[in-house]
Amino acid sequence: IPVDSFDLVIFGGTGDLARRKILPGLFRRFRSGQMPAEARIIGAARSEMDDAGYRQMIREAIAEFGSEEKQDTAGIDAFVERLHYVAIDATGEGGWHQLRDLMRDGVIRAFYFSVAPSLFGALAERLHQHGIADASSRIVVEKPFGRDLASAKALNATLAEHFDESQIYRIDHYLGKETVQNLMAVRFGNVLFEPLWNSHYIDHIQITVAETVGVTGRGSYYDKSGAMRDMVQNHLMQLLCLIAMEPPSIYDADTVRDEKLKVIRALQPVEPHQIVRGQYEASAEGPSYREDAENPRSFTESFLALKCHIANWRWAKVPFYIRTGKRMKARSSEIAVVFKDLGHTIFEGDTARHRNILSIRLQPNEGMDLQVTIKEPGPGGMRLVDVPLDMTFADALGPDQDAPDAYERLIMDVIRGNQTLFMRGDEVEAAWAWTDPIIEGWEARNDVPKLYDAGSAGPEDAMMLMHRDGRRWREIK
Ligand code: NAD
Repeated sequence: IPVDSFDLVIFGGTGDLARRKILPGLFRRFRSGQMPAEARIIGAARSEMDDAGYRQMIREAIAEFGSEEKQDTAGIDAFVERLHYVAIDATGEGGWHQLRDLMRDGVIRAFYFSVAPSLFGALAERLHQHGIADASSRIVVEKPFGRDLASAKALNATLAEHFDESQIYRIDHYLGKETVQNLMAVRFGNVLFEPLWNSHYIDHIQITVAETVGVTGRGSYYDKSGAMRDMVQNHLMQLLCLIAMEPPSIYDADTVRDEKLKVIRALQPVEPHQIVRGQYEASAEGPSYREDAENPRSFTESFLALKCHIANWRWAKVPFYIRTGKRMKARSSEIAVVFKDLGHTIFEGDTARHRNILSIRLQPNEGMDLQVTIKEPGPGGMRLVDVPLDMTFADALGPDQDAPDAYERLIMDVIRGNQTLFMRGDEVEAAWAWTDPIIEGWEARNDVPKLYDAGSAGPEDAMMLMHRDGRRWREIK
C-alpha cells in the first residue's frame, strides 16, 4: 500500500548513514511501490554539488550497499530522478531559499537529521525561520540522543522549541526489526503466553547483542561512549521494555510508550557486583581495543554484562541478564525467555533438566522458536528430548522477498505518522536517569574493564555473573 506523497529532506545526505542505509532503503520502498512515484528526496549537506552529482553519488551508494536490487538499473534510473540536492550548512544562511522553493505544498514534509546532534538546534531553528517546517512536518533524529541525562534534556528542550513531541521521531532501528514487532504479536495476540508471562513461570530473561566487528575506524568516537552509552541505554533497554511491559490497552503510540516508560522507571539501581565491563585484547584476527581506539590508556568498555531487576509485581525476583560486546565469537542477537523448571517429573529415570525457552532471534536469521520437551521418537521407551518449535514467519507463510528492513519500515512509519516504534523524549530521559549513576560510579572508582580474548564470549567474570546464580548464558552462535 503506497504511503501518502511526501518530500523528505535528508540533512547529512552525503554521509555514511544516508548512503549506507537511508537511500538504499528508500530505493527498496520505491521498487516495492510503497513510495509514491512523485515523492521527492532532497539531500542537503555542506558540499557543493548539483542534482546530477548527487544522483551519481546515490547510484554508487546503491551499487555498494544495496543487495539484489542493485541489478535493477531501470529501477535505479527512475529512483534517482526523484532525488535533488541543496548545499546547506546547518549553521549558515545559504541554501535555505532553494530548499523552500523545491518543496511542494500539500504533501507531507519530513526532515531527517542525519548529522551530529550538536547541529539539531541550528537546523530546527532555520527550518522555522525560513518557513520550511510547519505544524504538520516531521523530524527524524538518530542516536546518540545525549550522552547523559543533562545533555538529553537539553537536546529535548532544543527540539521542543520548534517541534511538538508528536512531530519528533527518535529512531532506534532495533524497534523496526520484524521479530521485535512479532514479539508483541506473540505476547498480545495469543492466549498461550501472557498468562505465563510473569515471575510465577519465568525463571529469568537473557538479552544478548554480540558483534564480531571491533571499533576500527570509529574508535575515537566509540571511546567517548562505550557499550553502555552506545548499546545498552538505547537498544538493549528498548528490547527489555517490550519484553517486560504490561499489555497496553490499545496498540497506539502513546499507550505503548506509556507502558515502556513504566518499565524503565521501575528498573532498580544496579550494584557494582552485578556488572562486568570488558575490553578486547589483541588476537591473530586484529588489534586490541586500545589500538583500535588509538588510546593506550583507555578504560572504555567494549563489552558489558549486567543483571538487573524490575521492581513491580509481575517481575518480582526475576533477574534480567543483558550483555553486549564487540569482537565476540559470533554476530548474534537474541532475547531468551527462560521458563522455570518443572516442579515434579513423572518420568522415572529422566534426570535431564527440561525447560521451555522462548528464543527471539534478531540476527542472523530473524525468527522465533520455542523449546519444548517431547518424547524421543522410536522404540527407546519414554525418553524425553528438547526440540525447538519453529515460529519463524518465513517458514510458515513463505519468504517475503519484499519485506522491508528496519530502516525502511521506520521511514515509512514517519510518513504514515505512526510513532509507535519510536522513542519518546521521556523514555530516553528515564533511560539516562538509570544509566547515569552506573557510569558515574565507574568514573568515581576509575573502574578498569576486564580483558577478554577477541572471538570469545566475553570476560570470565561475565560467566560468573550467571554461574553465581546457578544459571548460564546461552551459547553465542
Ligand atoms: P558522517 O560524518 O558520515 O556524515 C555527516 C553528514 O553531515 C555529511 O553529509 C556532512 O556533509 C553533513 N554535515 C556535517 N556538518 C554539517 C553542517 N554544518 N551542515 C550541514 N551538513 C553537515 O556521519 P554519519 O555516520 O552519516 O552519521 C550521521 C548521524 O547519524 C550522526 O549523528 C551519527 O552519530 C548518527 N548515526 C550514524 C549511524 C551510522 O551507521 N553511520 C548509525 C546510527 C547513528
